[in-house]
Amino acid sequence: MVKELDANQGGGAGHSGVTRRTFVKGAAIATIVAPAMAAAGSVHAESVVEAKVTADLGKYRALGGWVEKPDDPQPALEGDVQADVVIVGAGFAGLSAALELAAHGAKVVVLEREFAGFGASGRNAGYLAGALGIEYDLFLKNIGQEKGKKIVSFYEEGVSFVERKLKEHGIDCDYNQSGLIRAGIDASQEEKVREGMRIGAELGLQSQFLDQAAMRARGIPPAFLFGNYTPRGGTLNPGKYVMGLRRAALRAGVKIYENTPLLSYVEGAVIKARTPRGSVSAPIMMLATNAYTPELGVLGGKVIPIRVSAIETEPLSAAQLAALGWPRREGIVTAHWTMESHRLTAHNTLLVTTKRISYPYGSKTPNVPDYDQYRELRVALHDRFPALRNIALRACWSGYISLAGDALPVVGTTGSHQNIYYAAGCTGHGVGTQSLVGNMIAKRIRGTEDELLAALRHDTPSTLPEPLRWCVVNGALCVTNMLDDRLNSKVREAHYRKG
Ligand SMILES: Cc1cc2nc3c(=O)[nH]c(=O)nc-3n(C[C@H](O)[C@H](O)[C@H](O)COP(=O)(O)OP(=O)(O)OC[C@H]3O[C@@H](n4cnc5c(N)ncnc54)[C@H](O)[C@@H]3O)c2cc1C
Repeated sequence: MVKELDANQGGGAGHSGVTRRTFVKGAAIATIVAPAMAAAGSVHAESVVEAKVTADLGKYRALGGWVEKPDDPQPALEGDVQADVVIVGAGFAGLSAALELAAHGAKVVVLEREFAGFGASGRNAGYLAGALGIEYDLFLKNIGQEKGKKIVSFYEEGVSFVERKLKEHGIDCDYNQSGLIRAGIDASQEEKVREGMRIGAELGLQSQFLDQAAMRARGIPPAFLFGNYTPRGGTLNPGKYVMGLRRAALRAGVKIYENTPLLSYVEGAVIKARTPRGSVSAPIMMLATNAYTPELGVLGGKVIPIRVSAIETEPLSAAQLAALGWPRREGIVTAHWTMESHRLTAHNTLLVTTKRISYPYGSKTPNVPDYDQYRELRVALHDRFPALRNIALRACWSGYISLAGDALPVVGTTGSHQNIYYAAGCTGHGVGTQSLVGNMIAKRIRGTEDELLAALRHDTPSTLPEPLRWCVVNGALCVTNMLDDRLNSKVREAHYRKG
């Protein structure tokens, strides 16, 4: 069977659906119309602020995610080559699989459409998180308690796996083994935090509740009132991590072809993967393309891409850091319907992600800035860190995670000979889990099925057809945004009342 792919999908760093002009127009409306309704004295101040926002957010083009193009770009594939395994996608999953296979003598070819780390692996928030905050409600009913325990073990093992690999490959990615906190910003979230903690404990997740006194004793910024703390995991620089994997894979003899999209493939006992100027023939193929997998004609009925964005501030000054406290720099996620995540980086910038997410119609994944999401993240930054209101942004970026209806990973095989492996659906937890899944799939290709990989096999619910899918997903997100906004307004008003 020949799979022909849609050449108009994804990729292309220069392609943009939301144009700069649309954004500037939006900013102009906000700058001109809104202040006209306000008192004359505030007009100037607001337009100055808006102009600054526009200038800050416009830096997206210059800075992108954590990874800019590597210094040693690997040449694109020219001609026809043979391999034992061809892997499509050079993120955590693809590179981890390549490393495991190469370590056991396999000839491995990796095809990457752009460059290693171009996808979510180079754009995430860098939380090396286990099971804290996973969506138990969405999967426990279907898979039951016993399998649920294995799922929790899988997430937790993802943390240990990455910690081992960082040591094994000598990857310095500013890993801060600080533990993580799922925090409440309002008393009304306490029940939710405690309930998540209770279910997690039943499934084997060890964590503790930090009340107000404990949070203040740890020096956590005051907007975060209480939380569910797990000592496992922490934060890292995902750009350095994925580049470390890339270096290790090249050292191990993996052939990585960058700027080389898979265009189509012919199924069979030997698969032929076609690229613009060549092909790879191999008895095994692995699609490590995560959110981009539906574009390849695979898993379109099981997973959808979700756009998630991030903003990063300029480095905080010594005085700002001292005032902030937060000595251990635990990665914080909030207990909103759509969480906010807040963390400090090794170079003292503050990174805020998530809060607003969206599903692009037709499961497309254009590489576009999402200025609405950046604005919302900026509001979250100001809400949680009012003292940093004037800090400038240095970068904003967006990427795609892959989501299944039950929020569980989707791994398996497809093709006429069941020799095409795939790994998707890891939601926002892929730093640990996609690294681990890549490794486990490689072991499976070598003939050993890990117990945790077996535990991931289950019936993934089917997605709705378009346009229903777009309406239902974004409709649900709209409702959760409204609930989160209502809570945020309440907290903001209380803050201003206090002075
Ligand atoms: C803003 C954001 C914040 C996040 N925060 C966190 C976090 O803090 N912690 C956490 O655990 N997870 C987080 N995630 C999720 C995590 O980043 C992902 O789950 C993980 O990186 C997925 O890795 P992957 O290797 O499966 O896929 P990706 O990193 O997406 O790699 C897929 C690769 O396939 C390539 N590709 C696609 N199509 C083709 C083709 N046709 N031919 C060749 N190559 C192709 C792409 O260019 C890409 O490089 C976040 C994600 C985002 C976007």
